[in-house]
Order: sequence, then C-alpha cells, then structure tokens
Amino acid sequence: MKVMLHEMSWAEAKEYFAKNDIAILPVGSNEQHGPQNPLGTDHLIAKAIAEETAKRIGILCLQVIPFGVSSHHKQFWGTIHVSPETLKNYVKEVCLALNYYGVRKVVIVNGHGGNLGALMEVARELREKGIFVSVFQWWPITGKLLPELFTPEERRHACAEETSLNLTLHPNIVDMSKAVDEEPREHKVRVEGVTLALDTVDYTDSGVFGKSTIASAEKGKKVFEAVISELVKHVNLLREAKIEDLMQKSKV
Ligand SMILES: [Zn+2]
Repeated sequence: MKVMLHEMSWAEAKEYFAKNDIAILPVGSNEQHGPQNPLGTDHLIAKAIAEETAKRIGILCLQVIPFGVSSHHKQFWGTIHVSPETLKNYVKEVCLALNYYGVRKVVIVNGHGGNLGALMEVARELREKGIFVSVFQWWPITGKLLPELFTPEERRHACAEETSLNLTLHPNIVDMSKAVDEEPREHKVRVEGVTLALDTVDYTDSGVFGKSTIASAEKGKKVFEAVISELVKHVNLLREAKIEDLMQKSKV
C-alpha cells in the first residue's frame, strides 16, 4: 500500500481519505549543521522519521516542508530561512487543504526547534476550526529513552547524536573527517534567568555546540528506532481517538 501522497493517484488518495481522517506532515529547515553535516539535516531527519512511521502503520505522509525559522544560523553559508509568519501560514494552508478531503488529525513531525512557536500557533488556531494538530519532536525525548547513549554535550545542535542519525540515514552526505568538538561561548552579559536573541555565530565558529566526533551509524540506528517506536504509539493513539474528545470544550 502506498503511503506517500505524492506517489498516489487522485483515485488512490480518494480511497485513503474515504477511510482515514489522519495524516503526517514533516517540517524542517535548511541550515548549517557544522562542517560535517548537510544543510538539510533537520528536514532530512524529519522526513525519514515521518516516512518510516507512515510505512509501518499505513498512514498518509506528505512531502517534507524544507525551509523553516532559522535566521539565527544565517551567517553560515547556505542557510535558507523564512519568517515565523510565513511558516505558520504555509503549514496552516497545507492542513486546511487536507481538511477539504476530511482530514481532522494532523501529526507534524518537526525537525527544527526554531519552528516550534509558529507550529504551536497553527495547532491552536486549527483546533478552533475543528482540526487537531499535534507536533512531534525527536530530540527532547532521546535523553529519556536512551539515557546512556550520549552525554548532554553530545546531544546539542550538530553534535554526535544528530550526526549519528545522519550517518545511519544518509551516510554518503556526511563527512566525518570534518567533524569537530567545540564548546559554545557564554555571552558576557548573560546571567541566570536571562534569554538573549543571539545568533549561532555568537556562540561557535564551527556551528557545532559541543561534541560531534564520537558519532556513529550504529548509535544513530538506536536513536532512530527508539524515536519511531514513540511516534508509532502516538499516531496509533490519535488514530483511535474520537475527534469530539480532541476538540475544545465549550465551557468548564
Ligand atoms: Zn538540527
């Protein structure tokens, strides 16, 4: 059975929508990930997680939206960023297009933390319109699922965990001979409780926020499998849930 929307004919899509009200939409970014990783890291990983989950449980998966909210990486060549408003409207209109065919539940697989604010605004606005949108992110959960696999310094942006996922999913576009370990700099005005709107270039010269050199395909495979099993659970729960139970309550 086909699960990728762009591979189906309209007749096959009609058949899917007649029986299902749920779809998966991967969203990512195209931004620097250190000297060893491809710019597409965040959208390539989101795409792989979404597609593999869709295949395992027979749920429709859309094409990945590759550009996200990542202007903070722009000083590194090749980072293509859009505004939060643009991402929000784009994702919202894609969800509304799905809703025209009866989709009421959309699972967004987000590959880039900078997109989260815009995506949560989409989720909140669409819930008012009778569409339930959930957002799944892989990196906040792996410390819990696989606590022994990486240290905190190996789990940050462009570090060993993310590089390992790239090594297991698309090894031919990772160059481990370029991998570095770089501890990010603290800004001189920062104290506890202060959040600063700084750019990546303020913290690191390589774009790596910690340790990346111990990355391996074997570790990446473990991360991928652990993440997929969580997402499979979520999509199955959502598929079974009654839409009335997911909608806003009218009053207390
Ligand atoms: Zn990333």
